[in-house]
Amino acid sequence: MPSAHYLPLDPQASDADDLEEEEGQQEHRTSMNNNQYNIRYHPQPAVDYDVVVDDDDNDDDRTPTMGKAPRLSRSIPSRRRCWIMPIMLLVPFCIVFLYFMLSSQTLGLGTSLEDVDDDYEPHNGIDSPNTHALNETLHICSESHEDGRLYVQDKPSSAYAQLPVIYFVTPTYPRREQIPELTRLAHSLLHVPRLHWLVANDHERCDTYMDILLNRFGIPFTHMASPMPHKFRNSKPAPRGVANRRAALQWIRQHNLTNGVLYFGDDDNTYDLRLFTEIRQTQRVSMFPVGLIADYAVSGPVVRDGKVVAFLDSWVAARRWPVDMAGFAVNLGYMSLYPNVNMPYKPGYEEDLFLRSIGLHIDQIEPRGNNCTEILVWHTQTKNKKSPVVRLEKKYLDGRSNLGALFRSLKVMGVAFASDTEGPLATISKNGKGKPHSYFLS
Ligand code: UDP
Ligand code: MN
Repeated sequence: MPSAHYLPLDPQASDADDLEEEEGQQEHRTSMNNNQYNIRYHPQPAVDYDVVVDDDDNDDDRTPTMGKAPRLSRSIPSRRRCWIMPIMLLVPFCIVFLYFMLSSQTLGLGTSLEDVDDDYEPHNGIDSPNTHALNETLHICSESHEDGRLYVQDKPSSAYAQLPVIYFVTPTYPRREQIPELTRLAHSLLHVPRLHWLVANDHERCDTYMDILLNRFGIPFTHMASPMPHKFRNSKPAPRGVANRRAALQWIRQHNLTNGVLYFGDDDNTYDLRLFTEIRQTQRVSMFPVGLIADYAVSGPVVRDGKVVAFLDSWVAARRWPVDMAGFAVNLGYMSLYPNVNMPYKPGYEEDLFLRSIGLHIDQIEPRGNNCTEILVWHTQTKNKKSPVVRLEKKYLDGRSNLGALFRSLKVMGVAFASDTEGPLATISKNGKGKPHSYFLS
């Protein structure tokens, strides 16, 4: 299984943070910046696709041990002791304080958040002091740069050769709806010429079933395994799809791509084919409304005289760019001018901080979808349910009926599992009447 070197995204504040404040926007900066964080990055030299971001810098300068204090005090005259004692108490306090300040930054991921953090209360969990190292891994499972489609939208694929490529980044994760979601999405993407599909699976290992599935569509693709670091798994809210998108950004960087257009397209959204025509000509950053977002069932730019002047979104939370991940596209040539491009593990703020990291200015935004009057992408959500275990004896899951192959396939897709002993008994019926399994299967 081939794997890729995975260098961490740079730990630096975005250029955008230096921009003038937008009119009417309140931002509170603190004197903290990344240079003060002293974050160490340790790309693993050996097996190479692992990156460890170690935030444990403070281990060496811990509080002096209590055991030393009495010895010190014995050898020092009592007048000096009276100021040494407060200092001894103060030093550990300062160290602990400093440690907490350092850890409160999203570990090792750079972008200065202080100017957007005022309303950050609901998400503090993820930034709380955490001594575990952050491990990010990226495996390239399989890829194809060949377009296996002879025809796209009634024209030979070759007719589109001059078009810029759209790099469509899809974070996905194993659950019973995964294969259906990807199948549906693939059937939309099949109609889109000059598209490279980056499917980044939030999973430790490469999923061979997914390789087969992606190969079958004929869409040029890269399948990678890019699991969410362990420390975020139980966070509420968790940074959903962030490790995956970061891995895709890493892949783009490693391939030095400076032509084409980047778009983040979740596996459960609904895409109008006109979206792709609209985003393909993105010069810097294009934006457009996304339907079914939050309280207003829409999120997107406000446009006057062909220019983006503000944003409509029910959750502002001091975000300079209160847009959905599916509501913008970025030109790769433009993005390459910003080597510190970043998407931090900061639920709710991923879009904002990503767009800050590429120095975006409101005047530069290209409104799409007929000046943002049309919805070309919908934030549809599929109901997630646990994969069921069904009681169906193994002895009947052989070649005598279809059920053996069917349940093997459902198991591989993570949809449903058969068991001899667990789960509700599978009902097999004829003429409206359930019968024992042996009746049909033995
Ligand atoms: N996702 C992921 N790992 C997770 C949860 C979600 O990779 O643990 C992916 C998911 O497949 C989707 C994107 O991240 O493409 C956003 O997740 P979801 O659609 O669940 O979030 P929403 O924005 O709809 O609330
Ligand atoms: Mn979704």
